Amino acid sequence: MTAAALPAAPAILGATMAQAQDETAQTPPAIPPYRKMQLGDMGVTTLLAANRPMDNPHGTFGLNASDEEFAALSQEAFIPADTSLNFFTPTLIEAGDEKILFDTGLNSAGTSAALAAAGHAPEDITTVVITHMHGDHIGGLMGEGGATFKNARYITGQTEFDHWSKAGNDTFEAKVRPLEDQFAFIKGGDSVVSGITAVEAFGHTPGHMAYMVESGGKGLVLAVDTANHYVWSLRRPEWEVRFDMDKTQAAATRKSLLGMVSADRLPFIGYHMPFPGVGFLETSGPGYRFVPTGYQLDV
Ligand SMILES: [Zn+2]
Repeated sequence: MTAAALPAAPAILGATMAQAQDETAQTPPAIPPYRKMQLGDMGVTTLLAANRPMDNPHGTFGLNASDEEFAALSQEAFIPADTSLNFFTPTLIEAGDEKILFDTGLNSAGTSAALAAAGHAPEDITTVVITHMHGDHIGGLMGEGGATFKNARYITGQTEFDHWSKAGNDTFEAKVRPLEDQFAFIKGGDSVVSGITAVEAFGHTPGHMAYMVESGGKGLVLAVDTANHYVWSLRRPEWEVRFDMDKTQAAATRKSLLGMVSADRLPFIGYHMPFPGVGFLETSGPGYRFVPTGYQLDV
């Protein structure tokens, strides 16, 4: 409700509400920007580093679908077809003495603020894993004061690093190149620490990696950018996405990785899913329905 919607609001109340709205506009989202869960002996915290509206989502999702198909699926899922909200969600895993951060958001400030809300400082991070090198995942590596995570080692996929190192772009040069010598490079099947294993999920980018997390007999998948919208990419895995560099390979990866998540009834975290970004997949038609987590990871 807005001040204008209130009938006969006294001027003083109108002014107060306008002031309150201005203050709201300057503060982070009203929901806490973190959600902590437990997976066996590991703490898993999703961090809302940023969110922002996206106009004309059909210009990004479902490039090979008609306007009618896009509108019909959107309506069926209770979401508008002409606008969207995008979330940027790094994940922190606490395993023994390690604090492992998966991806770094658009910038240092957003990820640092979410970490602080959850009770962590950037200096506490022992390992930063970069799943792929799009700007919304590497943007927080460097801030105004240099490296954001001053005590961390860095891990990324060899294939991914090799691609961007050769192709080059301004964001890579600004955010990754200064840290190049501190990176260790892994491939699918390699472990970050015991219980966290890289899974090749190529297509979104040439070396995009998902991660399988296992502790105390429980499993969780960091699907990262395998699927970038909870309706348009999960319900229709074959729908092409503008950000997927190899659209055919990305769709094949969606089908195989999401198929595994669904068949094994595992919880997964998607970097761009609605915050807190954690859910399950129920088979539905050619794809999957997103079932947001309830208390499954709290008990
Ligand atoms: Zn992304």
